[in-house]
Amino acid sequence: MALAVILHLLMRRFEDTYRHKGLRMQLVKVLKEKGITDEKVLQAITNVPRHYFMDSAFDKIAYEDRAFPIGEGQTISQPYTVAYQSQLLEIKPYEKILEIGTGSAYQAVVLAEMGAQVFTIERQKKLFDSNKAFHLLKNYPNIKLFYGDGFEGLPTYAPFDKVIITAAAPFVPPKLVDQLKAGGKMVIPVDEGSHQRMKRITKNTDGSITEELFDYFSFVPMLGGKQNGN
Ligand code: SAH
Repeated sequence: MALAVILHLLMRRFEDTYRHKGLRMQLVKVLKEKGITDEKVLQAITNVPRHYFMDSAFDKIAYEDRAFPIGEGQTISQPYTVAYQSQLLEIKPYEKILEIGTGSAYQAVVLAEMGAQVFTIERQKKLFDSNKAFHLLKNYPNIKLFYGDGFEGLPTYAPFDKVIITAAAPFVPPKLVDQLKAGGKMVIPVDEGSHQRMKRITKNTDGSITEELFDYFSFVPMLGGKQNGN
């Protein structure tokens, strides 16, 4: 009997019910009201069960437009922020995307749902290990997980069509600009005191850089080096 209850609870943890789907539709409505217009982004948010990325304690509130703790002092970004950055990236199918800050892997899955090939780096070993074991990611062969320092990027896999940074960057990391294709774009929240300004950097074909400025956000910091967690 006890085993049956435990199994039931475990199954529920990975169940995507009509209620969850309904809550996602409501979330998409909220995102539209806040100005997200890219249909591919809205479809990806509709498809991805965000409650799978959080502790089951958050199940009931997983579809509120808020960031949540995921352990190790880190957060799963607010859906609006994920949608905002994904929209600015202007993803096309099969594009190679470098993400800095895997965290819960929610942003990576949203990009993969949009047809991108995602290379994502996390500096915290515990978060990297838990994503390695995350069953949902087995459905996404187009996501590759790396444990490392995002300031270094992934020179072996460069160049990338797009780069997305999902932590507050103290500056635009030059190595990440180097690893962008000519014509490629980077979406990055850059520190300006207590909050960050979202920027989109375009690497022009002559190698020069164009910078566009967007709204203010609040991210956890982008830190140098790796953290082992032992
Ligand atoms: N994209 C994530 C958001 C995670 S929060 C999601 O969808 O849930 C930001 C993450 O960036 C944290 O997990 C933090 O550990 C990681 N991070 C911070 N600095 C980093 C760096 N230099 N390299 C790689 N990851 C970094």
